Amino acid sequence: MEVTLKERYCHFIGGEWVEPQGGKTFETVNPATGEVLARVAAGDAHDVERAVEAAWQAYHQSWSRTDANARGKILYQIAEIIRKNSEELAHIETLDNGKPLLESRLDMFLAAECFEYYAGAATKLEGKTVPVFGERLDYVLREPWGVVGQVIPWNFPLLMAAWKLAPALAAGNCVVLKPAEQTPLSALRFCELIGDVVPKGVINVVTGFGPEAGAPLVRHPKVKKVAFTGSTEVGRQVMAAAAANVADVTLELGGKSPQIVFPDADLDAALEGVLLGIFYNAGQQCSAGSRLFLHKDVYDPFMEKLVERTRQIKVGDPLKPETQMGPLVSREQQKRVLGYIELGVKEGAQIVTGGKAPEDPELQKGCYVEPTIFVDVQNNMRIAQEEIFGPVLCVLRWSDYETMLQEANGVQYGLCAGIWTRDLLQAHRTAQRLEAGYIWINQYDVYAYGAPFGGYKQSGIGRELAFETLYHYTQQKNVNVDLSGKPSRWFR
Ligand code: NAP
Ligand code: MG
Repeated sequence: MEVTLKERYCHFIGGEWVEPQGGKTFETVNPATGEVLARVAAGDAHDVERAVEAAWQAYHQSWSRTDANARGKILYQIAEIIRKNSEELAHIETLDNGKPLLESRLDMFLAAECFEYYAGAATKLEGKTVPVFGERLDYVLREPWGVVGQVIPWNFPLLMAAWKLAPALAAGNCVVLKPAEQTPLSALRFCELIGDVVPKGVINVVTGFGPEAGAPLVRHPKVKKVAFTGSTEVGRQVMAAAAANVADVTLELGGKSPQIVFPDADLDAALEGVLLGIFYNAGQQCSAGSRLFLHKDVYDPFMEKLVERTRQIKVGDPLKPETQMGPLVSREQQKRVLGYIELGVKEGAQIVTGGKAPEDPELQKGCYVEPTIFVDVQNNMRIAQEEIFGPVLCVLRWSDYETMLQEANGVQYGLCAGIWTRDLLQAHRTAQRLEAGYIWINQYDVYAYGAPFGGYKQSGIGRELAFETLYHYTQQKNVNVDLSGKPSRWFR
């Protein structure tokens, strides 16, 4: 499919395409080829100001008066638009991000489902009454914050936008969204497509860099709630910025998730889950199962198959249907990941496959890294502690259950975990003891709308994808009413 990109993209503010006030733009690049795809507005505090104003105006003039059923219908329409245009959107995503087309298509499907889930949820967000003393009625309303600021990463560009936008809009907020600088195009095309369906100013997109466009958004005094997905390091800065206004914050941050293989596991199933967990999206996922805890009794046969299958992964042009792994998102990310591989070798771990950029002459212009596996990894090595965010698996051999559990939990992160065993009692016991927000038993990387996704420890605050996500996008108002009609006199 041929997609037609514009040469230049502006901000989407108040339903209009708005030039960046500072006049600056930047290039967005195809990481598979190094080609410049388009120039995009580099936003600053002035642009953020306009977007926040436009969002408040839309909130007061239209969105706060739109009832939940009508909001739900609009979200259904957005889902329809994504489905109808999914081929085009998937191609744009692959061009901008480098992920294989098959993965981009799945992203679009999941983005549409996300809008559908929250379309249905909009009318189910209810308040409550509280039984209180005396002749009184006490009721609690859930009201939107008004304007929400959202900052998202480059690994699942439109899907992350959907995870953020859908619950915020369903709960009745207007949004200013800043996409990642590496991958702004799918969100901008999305805005073009939904222009007739969503009232002007309800969704605003300001593109640009974190410090210039992201920071003014998250510290803006009129932004009452901030939602962020990205690195833990930036997450801390976002939280500190929001603290200046005592704005509510949810954070979805990094991970270093363990995959635990017990000796009685279905090893074929575990093999598939381990491969998917670390090589899907070239390992650029917060949920990546990047530490494999492999029991000593199955270590050799499992590793043999794992290495063999890893070597068979087809790395290449993400637009080709046979490609299983594309490039990383940028030259910078490629350097970062190769730097971690170098570090792992220095720390004394052994590479059993991969370990460098592929030598294929056709891939030299792209930001590729071979699927890589380290063995002889100690849990205190930096490669076992830090989020590499690339196709790099660290394997740790285990024999003692308690030691393994301690190590599995022995990182600052706590996002996901995978447990592979036929002994379900063992699986549930282990799930209870893992410090992680989202755990899979005998599968990996399976998400369901309705099931809360988010991190323990420094992997984040708050939960996405669930009904209770709507609570993060509302504040409670308690109303206490006297029903007696008699004045209560305190001073007699
Ligand atoms: P990042 O810096 O955390 O970026 C995430 C988003 O935050 C981007 O939109 C970014 O803008 C923006 N941002 C940066 N500084 C900001 C600030 N001071 N205030 C407000 N917004 C700000 O992630 P990255 O640099 O792209 O990637 C670095 C590492 O983060 C990765 O290697 C990985 O370990 C981790 N990461 C995790 C996730 C995840 O899903 N949990 C996703 C992406 C990255 P720019 O586009 O200008 O950077
Ligand atoms: Mg790009």
